[in-house]
Parts: sequence; structure tokens; C-alpha cells
Amino acid sequence: MIVTLLGTGTSTGVPMIGCSCNVCQSQDPRDKRLRVSVLIEHGKNNVLIDTSADFRQQMLTKKVSHLEAILYTHQHYDHIAGFDDLRAFQFLRQKAPVCYASAEVAAYVRRTFEYAFGAATQIGGGLPSVPFITIDERPFEVCSFNVTPIPLLHGKLQIFGFRIGNFAYLTDCSEIPEDSFALLAGLEVLILDGLRYKPHPTHLSIPESVVLAERIAPQITYLTHMNHDVLHAKAERELPPHVRLGYDGLSFNLASN
Ligand SMILES: [Zn+2]
Ligand SMILES: [Zn+2]
Ligand SMILES: [Zn+2]
Repeated sequence: MIVTLLGTGTSTGVPMIGCSCNVCQSQDPRDKRLRVSVLIEHGKNNVLIDTSADFRQQMLTKKVSHLEAILYTHQHYDHIAGFDDLRAFQFLRQKAPVCYASAEVAAYVRRTFEYAFGAATQIGGGLPSVPFITIDERPFEVCSFNVTPIPLLHGKLQIFGFRIGNFAYLTDCSEIPEDSFALLAGLEVLILDGLRYKPHPTHLSIPESVVLAERIAPQITYLTHMNHDVLHAKAERELPPHVRLGYDGLSFNLASN
């Protein structure tokens, strides 16, 4: 499977609207961060993790013409707000991707986009018509590969990371519960939240992520969900060699089992 980071920025994106700091003004393309999302290409199937607030731009940049499934980590705006743009795939293919989400996240999406779930009074512009499958902590199969949900704490919110083969994606977390470490053994690539240098109540800081990467011990860890405190080139010089910063468009090839 080919895994591509479509966005690696925090909820505001980087640059942030109106900001003139050195990271927001940086000419390094790796400092341009859309909201977080990951594309997994597996044979003829495309699986997306989260429909970010930059979903449309990400689909256009990556020239994605079909999506078979979407895995939702949690319900925050930066992770779900591209949901309405799923309509585009219906216009072209008459078939919507299947969304996998916890009962809580699915209910939140239904409330947020209630017009798509029976509340619309007219359907002039078309409505996203997207089936949801409820997931819990048990592994499930998507497009012939196994997905293991990884319970995480995002502040007080319980959310899911996902493991597929020897790849794991753990965005938006401030704590990895003790039981989840056993699900993370033997990883090749770990994508891990690394918001900024200072501690934060709902996200891992970069120093915390480095300690966790040491314990989980994948072959390589890439940080994601960075804000505008983090200048790519400087951060990479300071990080240990087995912990790197992710950037939009970073892609790698991995076995799916
Ligand atoms: Zn987020
Ligand atoms: Zn800035
Ligand atoms: Zn979040």
C-alpha cells in the first residue's frame, strides 16, 4: 500500500490567516501545512483517514478520482468539515465511500450535516449520501485489509488512531492509554501528533512525542498536526534521526499485512 500525508497542520493550517510570523512567512514548501488527513492506496482501492477542512484541495492536488472508504478518528471540525464535498464522488460515480466511525463520531457528523441525513427541505445542490458503519475497539476489515483501532486520549475525549499492517496513525492525542501500547508493537512507520514545543492540554508536544517514539520504537516516526511554532528545517536538525517531521505530500510504500 502507498500511504500519503495529505495534510500535516493543526486546526488553523499553516500559514495561519493573518499571521506574519517566520513560519507562516516561510518559503520552504514543507512549512505549508493543510489540515491533517492521510490517503492509503491499496490496489484499486483508496481509503482516506478523515475528511479534513482542506479535503477538496487535497483531492484535487492528489488527483483522487474515487474513494472507497473513510476512517474517522474523531469529530473535530478540522477532521470532518470536508464531508459535504464527498458529493463530488457521487456526481461522477453514483457511489459514495463507506464511512467508518465510532457511534459518537457518526452521531456528531449526522448532527453537524443534518441536511444530508433527512433534514433537507430541498435537494437542489445534491446531498452527500454516505453510509456509516459503526466501529468500536475491535479490528475490522476495509477493502480487504485489516484495520485495528487504537484507543487514544485527546484531552478528555476518547478517540481512535488506526493501525494497518505495520503502519499506525495517531493524530490528535495527548495521551496513549497503557493498553494501547501492546497494539503498537513492531511498527515500521508511526505517524504521531506533535503540535508544538510547549505542552498542550489536548495534544502531544514534540518533546513528549519523542519520548513516546522511543518507547513504541517503530523504525521511523513522523510527527504531524504541527502549528506555526514549528519551522520544518530547524525542527529536523534538533530531532533524533529516527523522529522526523511529516510534511504535506510525504509518501511511503508499506506492506498492508
Ligand atoms: Zn485536529
Ligand atoms: Zn504564524
Ligand atoms: Zn482534535
